[in-house]
Amino acid sequence: MLCEMCGKDVPSLAQVRVEGSVLRLCADCSRFGKVITPPAIPVSPNPGGSPPAGRTAVALVPRPRRLEERDLYRELPELELAPDWGKRIRVAREKLGWTPEDLGHRLNEKKSVVLKMESGSFHPPDPMVGKIERLLKIRLRAEAEPKA
Ligand SMILES: [Zn+2]
Repeated sequence: MLCEMCGKDVPSLAQVRVEGSVLRLCADCSRFGKVITPPAIPVSPNPGGSPPAGRTAVALVPRPRRLEERDLYRELPELELAPDWGKRIRVAREKLGWTPEDLGHRLNEKKSVVLKMESGSFHPPDPMVGKIERLLKIRLRAEAEPKA
């Protein structure tokens, strides 16, 4: 599912009220507003009554374990980059025909920063990782998602 604010692809999104409108956001972005419906909260059973209208479909969706719910709200989710993330950036950039300078412009960074990332000597901060992934349409994070 794609976060409506940053576009990150995450296992679950929270419904968050941001300046009057309700958006579906990842854990990072939900900090910018008031969480209405946190992701992965089990629907409580409704003993004795018929299920409230509109709830039926929701109840059929398998729910993640509680542990993951807490993980989503960690202060700073640490991104685990793939071992060859620098190479992935370079290969994807070259495929697009971009120079390190081109990519730098799009990231508001210097060409030298791009080259350092591609050589693996500069570890991009989390927001930049997301930006690079969207620009180059690649994944830099390790393939193994903690979702089973
Ligand atoms: Zn987001």
